[in-house]
Amino acid sequence: MNNDLSLLGEFGIIDLFRSHARRANPWVTVGIGDDCAVMDMDGQRSLLVTTDMLLEDVHFRRSWARPRQLGWKSAAVNISDIAAMGGTPSGAFLGIGIPTDMKMDDLTGFRRGLDDCLRRYGVDLLGGDTVASTNGLAVSITLIGTAPSQDVVRRSGAMPGQRVFVAGTLGASAAGLFLLEGNECPGGLDADSRQELIRAHLEPRPLVDLGRTLAERHLATAMIDLSDGLLSDLGHLCDESRVGAVIKATALPICEPTRILADSLGLDPLEWAISGGEDYGLVFCTAPEDEAPVTAVGRDLDIPISAIGWTTGEESVIRLSVNHSMSAVSRKGWDHFAKTGRGEPDEPVP
Ligand code: ADP
Ligand code: MG
Repeated sequence: MNNDLSLLGEFGIIDLFRSHARRANPWVTVGIGDDCAVMDMDGQRSLLVTTDMLLEDVHFRRSWARPRQLGWKSAAVNISDIAAMGGTPSGAFLGIGIPTDMKMDDLTGFRRGLDDCLRRYGVDLLGGDTVASTNGLAVSITLIGTAPSQDVVRRSGAMPGQRVFVAGTLGASAAGLFLLEGNECPGGLDADSRQELIRAHLEPRPLVDLGRTLAERHLATAMIDLSDGLLSDLGHLCDESRVGAVIKATALPICEPTRILADSLGLDPLEWAISGGEDYGLVFCTAPEDEAPVTAVGRDLDIPISAIGWTTGEESVIRLSVNHSMSAVSRKGWDHFAKTGRGEPDEPVP
């Protein structure tokens, strides 16, 4: 028997736990398989819970990121999962493994960044756990939030024939990571653009107001946040909703500095836009008649919202339309256990 975990991949491993998970408590309305677990509190309101881990040399390098940025990001990535359910974040628990050689200034910086993010989004730090780490900084945050039960938006509510939207831009975080890894832009990149890309990677801004507004107005039938990459995350939404999707390459809101950087390297910016992770925007579906109100919400909140395609009845198949030719694409996105960290290459379909 082949004992190699890369065969299962990150999502196969999650399915292993999911397929054996007990679901006996009647007040749990959503368990494994969404951005948050959802628990009914009183028939009116639901509790949302999510947890995400950041590990040194897996998710970040201490040489790239200031401690304050790490503190911000470790809270922001969790708050983004609350946003994806249309919820309001309220409390955080901080599990932290601190390397014994970490300096007091660095820990203080981390604490400040964490606090800045929690305050910005109205979250109280409620508890946690502190240990020494012999293998780098490890941060695991659990975030809780609430939402009116009837407003909670799941990954599973999309139907064929609905519009697919992206809120925010694509590809900035992946391009920022490319720069942080020490790569340069051969054609030159102005300081503001450079800063924009790096900040997108290190200081993501979860779209809580947008998620909540879409949820309150019942404009999103399904929603997920962009953590692993558009194809991968939209793929999860499609799997849970048992739909497929057709995405139009020209409609993707690729961030302008990402385009400039990719062009100057002779790379296709589309690659960063569809497979680059950690943009922390939202992907959601709406009924065709709700397209105009969705666009209006984006305008009111000053968040770019782009219609990028449609859902289809072809379960779990995502097709990308580029220059009038359409091919099914694999879910390339971040996978912690794939050999390259990525899924399979594209499979053109006749
Ligand atoms: P996200 O990117 O939104 O944080 P993930 O892809 O990390 O979501 O996880 C997908 C789902 O699998 C979530 O419901 C998450 O809680 C669950 N999950 C991930 N890892 C585990 C695990 N080790 N045990 C149980 N559930 C898990
Ligand atoms: Mg998520």
